[in-house]
Amino acid sequence: MIPRQAPREGQIGFLYLPPIRVQGISVAGEQTSVSVPEYDIVFDIGLCPRPVISSKILALSHTHMDHVAGLPYYFSQRFFQKLPTGRCYCPKPMAEHLQAMMRSWVALERQETPYEIIGMDPGDEVEIKPNTFLRAHASSHTIPSLAYSVVEKRKKLREEFSDLPQERVRQLRLSGEEISRMVEVSLVAYTGDTEPAPFLYHTDFVEARVVITECTFFDPEHQDKAKIGKHIHVEDLRPLLALWKAEHVVVVHASRRTMLSFARGRLNDVAGERAESVHMLMDFRANRKRLEQQSLEFDVEHPSEISTAENTEIG
Ligand SMILES: [Zn+2]
Ligand SMILES: [Zn+2]
Repeated sequence: MIPRQAPREGQIGFLYLPPIRVQGISVAGEQTSVSVPEYDIVFDIGLCPRPVISSKILALSHTHMDHVAGLPYYFSQRFFQKLPTGRCYCPKPMAEHLQAMMRSWVALERQETPYEIIGMDPGDEVEIKPNTFLRAHASSHTIPSLAYSVVEKRKKLREEFSDLPQERVRQLRLSGEEISRMVEVSLVAYTGDTEPAPFLYHTDFVEARVVITECTFFDPEHQDKAKIGKHIHVEDLRPLLALWKAEHVVVVHASRRTMLSFARGRLNDVAGERAESVHMLMDFRANRKRLEQQSLEFDVEHPSEISTAENTEIG
């Protein structure tokens, strides 16, 4: 008998949550890497699935193997593809160890792969794009860890001036009056591996447009396992989903043993009314259906663009 072909691995989870895409692979204990191309960022690097290589900013939540194994490969592939050097932010206590690993690779390969590894403390922030900042939060896992938010800072006209005619606003500005104030918009927040901790109630998580959260355990009898491994259990999401204002919550880090239909049922239960805004990154079937629906709706709203697309030859 001819042996069966080896199973295909590494299918990429994909969600279009306008205006962003959330894509990657996340299976607890195996690999987690989730990118948001619009912000040029990837959270964790697992086994470095191909689509995340193009993100220049890598925010590493912690250094368990399933989140960091792809790091040297990520730097190396970016170099190989002539992309600018990737920049990895990580929990500060781990920066020197990651740098030591990269130095070992120089000896192993007899080749200098450029890399940038920068440690962060909770509360630190760095500008990753004009007006867009990566902020570190104190998560709580079995080893040093960080959660992250991507925050846009905008200048907004102060309310007392908002009804004035433009010319008057211009005069005030020229006269040196402080007419604007800074507002922050939390674009996306990523929990990384963590047990329930106060950072989950930080404004950046409460107000985030999209929250990407780990949830490793779904079985009611696995609450102890979640505690020991310092992970989120689906029951922990109940109060959070009631509080987070996110248009979309993306659940990652379910294990391979988790039955998707069971997990989905549990999520629907804890999400209640907002179940439709809660997605599982690795629920390929549901996400494909969702994308097809989005595509249909787009075609109805933009009939002219269908004909253009049909008339355009590929090549
Ligand atoms: Zn993990
Ligand atoms: Zn972990």
